[in-house]
Formats: sequence, C-alpha cells, structure tokens
Amino acid sequence: SLRKLAAGNWKMNGRMPQLAEAMALAGAHPSPTVDVLLCPPATLLAPMAQAMLGSAVAVGGQDCHAAVKGAHTGDISAEMLVDAGASYVILGHSERRADHGETSAMVAAKVQAAWAAGLIAVVCVGETETQRDAGETLAVIGAQLAGSLPEGASAQNTVVAYEPVWAIGTGRTPTPEQIAEVHAFLRDKAPDAGIRLLYGGSVNPGNAATIFALANVEGALVGGASLKAEDFGQIIAAL
Ligand code: 13P
Repeated sequence: SLRKLAAGNWKMNGRMPQLAEAMALAGAHPSPTVDVLLCPPATLLAPMAQAMLGSAVAVGGQDCHAAVKGAHTGDISAEMLVDAGASYVILGHSERRADHGETSAMVAAKVQAAWAAGLIAVVCVGETETQRDAGETLAVIGAQLAGSLPEGASAQNTVVAYEPVWAIGTGRTPTPEQIAEVHAFLRDKAPDAGIRLLYGGSVNPGNAATIFALANVEGALVGGASLKAEDFGQIIAAL
C-alpha cells in the first residue's frame, strides 16, 4: 500500500506567532509513520521551513507561477518556493480556480514549472454542488484531472487531492460511498498507479478515521483543522 500523507493548507491564515503551532506539531510527531506537510502563506514559508529543519514535517507553497522569473508583480516562482525551503506546492486549488480564474491548462503549466524546480505538485480537483446535483461529478473531475496533469505525472512528482467545492469550509462532507466512488475513478484515471490520492473538505479529528479507512484514500488535504497542532495531530494519528 502507498505511504500516507497528511497535508495542511493554512490558506490566508497565520502570522509569525502561529509558527508555534507548527513547532508543536513537529514536537508531537518526532517520527510519524506517515508523511506530514504544512503549506503556510508565502510570508511564513521561509521561517516555517527554518523552524522545521531537522523535523519530519515538510513545507510547501499554496501556488506558484508558471514562469521561472520575470515581470509578474506579486507572483512567486516554483524556484523561489524551493529557495524558501518548500518541497511541495498545492496547485489548482478550487479557491485559485474561482478567485483567480485558473483553468486546468494554466494549472498544468504551473505543474510543469513545479516539477522543473523539483517540487512535488499537489493537484486539486473537485466538483461544485451544482455540478454534483446535475450528475456531472465524474465528468468534471475527469476533465480537470486530464487537463491539469501534464505528460509525465508520476508517484514521485505528483499527489492528487479530491476536494468537493461544497465540502470546503462548510462542515459538510460527502458520504463514504461518494468519496469512495470518486477515489476509485481517480485511481483508474491517474497516469501512475502510485500517485497518492488525498481527500479534502471539512476533514476533522472526528471524521478522519472513517475517511482514511476508505479504499484509494492515502491521506487528507486539511484546511481549518490544520491550523491547530492538536487537531492536525489527531488527524495525523488517525492515518
Ligand atoms: P477545510 O478543511 O477548511 O474544509 O478546507 C479544505 C481545503 O480546501 C484544503 O485545501
């Protein structure tokens, strides 16, 4: 079976004092039996990577630009993330797709840039509630996956996260059957059988064990519950 991954996405949350949460997490899990990743806002990337040196916690970015460098005010390249100490980057999160108009083609270009810099891409896919109600879930996810993954995706350079948009930050999670259906579909469509598949959307210490017990679920991409070391620690323990 594939090695599990617990990934925390802090989104636009956290300032210097919150580094203490990352340090508490690293201290509570000195040698976790699963991979642990924290993706803080860009401003905390370098100090968090410094604080996590010698620990088992990896750090990652939440986005990168497709270009290596240039006139792109406010953007950050994949090489810059590496420079700051990142080993992963989340790409194509539904909030980026919605807030910044990122298409799957744009995500694929970013994935390419991430790989070129040596980063592991955590590529997000997921349907809206309207799409699910219309019976379009697998079609939408299939198109996002095919469009967002360039040629060459492998277990070494890519993780895929299924995040139903309606489950993010809402406290609503799909049924185990709904998660299992999408993850079986993703396993079938993923270009490499070793690519790890994460579930994301309102994962918390109370529902983590049920979700992690499902076939084809190798971990979680956790938003709100990753901000507190105690909550995220319980989720890691459930893996
Ligand atoms: P929540 O865990 O806060 O629902 O967020 C999920 C998410 O979008 C992680 O990327």
